[in-house]
Amino acid sequence: MADIIQLLPDHVANQIAAGEVVQRPASVVKELLENAIDAGANTIKLIIKDAGKTLIQVIDNGKGMSVTDARLSFERHATSKIKSADDLFQLNTKGFRGEALASIAAIAHVELKTKQDQDEVGTAITIEGSKITAQDVTVSPKGTSVAVKNLFFNIPARRNFLKSNTVELRHVLDEFHRVALAHPTLHFSLYNNGSETFNLPVSNYRQRIVNIFGVKTNEKLVPVDEDTEVLKISGFVGKPEFAKKTRGEQYFFVNNRFIKSAYLNHAILSAFEGLLKTGTHPSYFLNLEVDPQTIDINIHPTKTEIKFDDEHTLYAILRSATKHSLGQFNIAPVLDFERDATLDTPYTQQQKTSEMPKIEVDRSFNPFEADSGTSSKAVSSTPKHTKTYNKPSTEHWESLYVGLESKGTRSTKPATDFSALTFESEEHTGALFEEKDAIETSSTTYQLHNKYVISAIKSGMLVIDQHRAHQRILYEDFLRDITVKEGVSQQLLFPLELHFSPQELEIVKQLQEDLEHTGFVFSKYTEASLEITGVPVMVPESEISIILEQLVSDVQNEVPDANFSATDLLAKSMAKSLAIKTGQSLQKDEQEHIVNKLFACKEPNVSPTHKPTFITVGTEELDRKFI
Ligand code: ADP
Ligand code: MG
Repeated sequence: MADIIQLLPDHVANQIAAGEVVQRPASVVKELLENAIDAGANTIKLIIKDAGKTLIQVIDNGKGMSVTDARLSFERHATSKIKSADDLFQLNTKGFRGEALASIAAIAHVELKTKQDQDEVGTAITIEGSKITAQDVTVSPKGTSVAVKNLFFNIPARRNFLKSNTVELRHVLDEFHRVALAHPTLHFSLYNNGSETFNLPVSNYRQRIVNIFGVKTNEKLVPVDEDTEVLKISGFVGKPEFAKKTRGEQYFFVNNRFIKSAYLNHAILSAFEGLLKTGTHPSYFLNLEVDPQTIDINIHPTKTEIKFDDEHTLYAILRSATKHSLGQFNIAPVLDFERDATLDTPYTQQQKTSEMPKIEVDRSFNPFEADSGTSSKAVSSTPKHTKTYNKPSTEHWESLYVGLESKGTRSTKPATDFSALTFESEEHTGALFEEKDAIETSSTTYQLHNKYVISAIKSGMLVIDQHRAHQRILYEDFLRDITVKEGVSQQLLFPLELHFSPQELEIVKQLQEDLEHTGFVFSKYTEASLEITGVPVMVPESEISIILEQLVSDVQNEVPDANFSATDLLAKSMAKSLAIKTGQSLQKDEQEHIVNKLFACKEPNVSPTHKPTFITVGTEELDRKFI
């Protein structure tokens, strides 16, 4: 019988390779962005149309290619990045397999334009299904532009297999985010169907995360830093209370390359043990630096899975570092029995023996000697530093237990002494009421640490989180205004012009009707700005842009699902922006306003984001503590 084995023609081999490397538009995005980074670019622009199905273009200002290299770059196994197999374990580049451009060119229409800095003119090459159809000299700036059109034009089965534009766009954005997160020192931008969706300036890592995921991410991040001989960790984990139902924001980068690792993910989960609600996933953005010799990146065509020489050690270090960070930021109990205690002891202290702490006792102290009349002064002026101990007058602290109705009746002194316990500064950061007619009110509320409003109730006391409570109050107000369409508007003296990206403007337009029901009045739109002539009565002019920006970012970050309601989101977002903040000192009347309005709400016990707004401490509970 005749021999039957033959070598496959190149274009068939390339198509087969493409099956591994290019699964969807997002795979092309990844390869092109990585090539741009390897070329030393510091500004990289990604342009896509129809979620990448029609066009994916990456423009960089990197080193470009010579005429010969431009042609060679489309050959299979053509790479400038490694020369021998040994180089595989010294990788400092993203690419090394030399098959991305060849694979992409096998299944799409590709237009390459490239120019090196020292050259007068550049090279333009058009290639369709592995066949070069044109090669010209071109005038172009330094760098490279690769446009990939009509992906899978010659493989209808693969093209039909692509998901909806929404799904494919999600994958493209994921890839873009991964690359942008791994390289905060490079400027990235993304244009989707003609409008700029992301513009990420050069920044530090934290800013890059915030620029991608929105301003509200900032307060959720806890830094993780650990430097050991085998592994250097830097980055952030999300606070447990912000853990999400979806597994969105989980990123490991090893030597600046995004990787997936179920094993390392487990290390993080175990560090979060006991801190997460069931069914929620913590976010993390962690950079791991290891010696390139100790990893193998070449185990998967898309290079997202890698093999570590010593996974167990990495697991232990990662877990311990994360636990330590959560503990340091008072998020988890600091006690970790598995942690090596010498790691926590400053080096300078390690050789020293510890000294017994000394306790000084005032032997002349007699609790019955003191004059009870001075006690309230001692408490109010210098509570922490009082050397002599004055027996407190029972008269005063008994009044703490007096119910609302019996104020002042059991005690001869008015219960206003209560206010003497306010030890935070009285400085005002903002006002809850426009005009304050200093109502002399009963002293059944006081503010603790500019954060909680404490109020006496019959059964004990009420501790209200001022920020969350006010959010609840405003949220219900806004919801009502929007639904009954009767928000009151105040006219601005001068129209206010606000600037947005086209995509953001689109979001504002969608919400315009609801916004108008709260009291906003929009006069005109241009391509990148809008003009406002009226705002809801309670919104100070200085806050307008912050509120709308927050709103846009909230809408962008919200994963729309069946329960998604623009009205609800708008009310929540505005309530969050306008609610009095933690740290803001409140006047007596403001404190009472919070208490009264909160309990007039339909759902007083939770904030709009379902966090508790208050707790109660029963008198009996307090009594028990004094036994
Ligand atoms: P790899 O990145 O694995 O080397 P590719 O097929 O992605 O393989 O690219 C082939 C070669 O083409 C690269 O090694 C590089 O020399 C060159 N190249 C590709 N993209 C660019 C770019 N944007 N700028 C400069 N050179 C590039
Ligand atoms: Mg490459």
